[in-house]
Amino acid sequence: MILDLLIFFSVFFLMEAVAWAAHKYVMHGFLWSLHESHHLPRTGAFEKNDWFGAFFSLVAMALFAAGYFIDVRFTAAGLGMTAYGFAYLFLHDILNHKRFGIHIKPNNRYLRSVLQSHRIHHATQGKDGCVSFGFLVPMRAKRRIF
Ligand SMILES: [Zn+2]
Ligand SMILES: [Zn+2]
Repeated sequence: MILDLLIFFSVFFLMEAVAWAAHKYVMHGFLWSLHESHHLPRTGAFEKNDWFGAFFSLVAMALFAAGYFIDVRFTAAGLGMTAYGFAYLFLHDILNHKRFGIHIKPNNRYLRSVLQSHRIHHATQGKDGCVSFGFLVPMRAKRRIF
């Protein structure tokens, strides 16, 4: 049980590092063609950028399958990844981008800094010159922008 919890939290926090690196080097790199939609005004319910989330959910499903067929410990990893997915969904898609028509005005310090940190990411339009690639761990801003 302790080991399962350790795996769960390790994977959860590791995913922030993976997402940060993927955002900085892949999405703003050779897969910009998919991520660009996220830096443009949304035209429908979905954007091409959602494929990244779909990809990571496939990895989580593979972990659940491995948990069933190979070793039950993979299930803890799958749950950690899924929990990260929900945290990302809430903090990035809902809090930052008001997906599903949900508007939240946080007065919580952590949520406000996550919001501010991602606004800095969207402050520039293109592929290059962006900063603040994390989603759950806010970048420490030198000054407040709102
Ligand atoms: Zn971006
Ligand atoms: Zn965004």
